Amino acid sequence: MKALRDRILKDGKCYPNGILKVDKFINHQMDPNLMKQVCVEFIRRYASTEINKIITIEASGIAPAIMMGFLLDLPVVFAKKKKPSTMGDMLSTTVFSFTKQREYHVVISKEYLGKGDKVLFVDDFLAYGNAAKGIIDLCRQAGAELVGMGFIIEKAFQHGREVIEAAGVRCESLAIIESLENCEIKLREE
Ligand code: 5GP
Repeated sequence: MKALRDRILKDGKCYPNGILKVDKFINHQMDPNLMKQVCVEFIRRYASTEINKIITIEASGIAPAIMMGFLLDLPVVFAKKKKPSTMGDMLSTTVFSFTKQREYHVVISKEYLGKGDKVLFVDDFLAYGNAAKGIIDLCRQAGAELVGMGFIIEKAFQHGREVIEAAGVRCESLAIIESLENCEIKLREE
């Protein structure tokens, strides 16, 4: 997606340990117009797929997810990193965050993910696939069908796609980074 690739090259910043900072337009300050273009592209790619719900994980996935839900007129559910005291029956799994270097529990109420759901997951980044693995587990526990996963940016050198495809789930990402070595952003050609 050209607009996204151009923006990553213009405003993305490399950090040590393979981290790309995109907080000028995706996950701190946000560009709603670019986010809309991103979601229109996800919708184009999943046009022939039946979807009844969008899911994501807090916090950075919420912006693309709500835009997807708005454009498709579908409900949006996000996996929470803290269990609210008011949550009843829930599904729970563990996710390792490599940006924070720690494990955390994520939960979704059984009320909002269950048998018969055909869900599309969206998130800002695909790195090692740990968040994706957690979502795959939550969908399996719920008996929901995970029809696909969509990422705004995939860091191919961290191999998260292998986790998703090994689980038999379709994976789409809109900008693929081959390398961040020497603080140089190398994007895969389209
Ligand atoms: P994974 O679970 O695939 O290892 O990592 C994905 C999650 O970690 C995403 O939800 C994202 O919020 C965060 N993340 C992974 N890599 C990066 C990165 O390079 N930059 C930023 N800003 N977040 C990242």
